[in-house]
Amino acid sequence: MKINHILNGWKNYLDKSEVSENIAKQRAAVCAACPHAKNGKLLAFIKDSLTQVQGAYCTLCSCPLSAKVRSTDICPENKW
Ligand code: SF4
Repeated sequence: MKINHILNGWKNYLDKSEVSENIAKQRAAVCAACPHAKNGKLLAFIKDSLTQVQGAYCTLCSCPLSAKVRSTDICPENKW
């Protein structure tokens, strides 16, 4: 996971919200069950109301999931 990916993801997160929190919640549940979701040490300090994806990132795109599920981005596996 590269730092610029994290920063871009969080920039999107702070700029947003592009999708409703309800949609983000549904996506977070999908990500939480996905083998590509991993906990990142660099994200460990970030708290999220969507606890399933708190501190996690997607290993396919390197995006922080707290940001990704709230953005207009797409899942690289087309799971959402
Ligand atoms: S964005 Fe898609 S591939 Fe990545 S962790 Fe979530 S469900 Fe898995």
